[in-house]
Amino acid sequence: MRIVLLGPPGSGKGTQAALLSDRLDLPHISTGQLLRAAVRHGTPLGIESRAYIDAGELVPDALMLGLIEERLGAPDAEAGFILDGYPRNLAQAEELDIVLKRLAQPVERALEIRVDEAEIVRRLSKRAAQEGRSDDTGEVVRKRLIVYAEQTAPVSRYYAARSLLRVVDGMGSIEDIQERLLEALS
Ligand code: AMP
Repeated sequence: MRIVLLGPPGSGKGTQAALLSDRLDLPHISTGQLLRAAVRHGTPLGIESRAYIDAGELVPDALMLGLIEERLGAPDAEAGFILDGYPRNLAQAEELDIVLKRLAQPVERALEIRVDEAEIVRRLSKRAAQEGRSDDTGEVVRKRLIVYAEQTAPVSRYYAARSLLRVVDGMGSIEDIQERLLEALS
């Protein structure tokens, strides 16, 4: 099963992707995690990406394409994957289709987790206290929400137009949301 998970920062997307990954025995591919690891290790990608991440902006598509091509081409992704954090704009959605077409492994389902804004702010301030991510603070969070609304929200329409999108209510307990996602996949 090849699944794309969509949702704003603070929607619980990463948490849900990890649970789905365990449940369905598929690799969880988070571009945010891959980028943060690259920054930690000081790789060329990390060095180039850092300023964008810290500003809450998208890392340029050309840099992301190499990363995603390499990761999706790895043997463990042959059986399927849960993609978390990619695509983030329409150009990336189109590039993903091209990459997956080449691998003869098209996206089968896009799941969007929808959460209201007050809850997003509440969850992100909790995460800031727990994880200390450099981009979970005031101004940067606001910027990430704007980027989501302007650039990432159209990606939902891209998948809706291809009849691949299911929207799931992201309010409630982690377990309840997980059940809704599994239902949306069945
Ligand atoms: P995330 O952990 O998914 O919230 O991603 C954290 C940050 O990494 C984002 O705010 C972006 O700066 C960067 N990032 C992650 N995925 C992408 C992507 N697909 N395209 C561009 N930038 C990304």
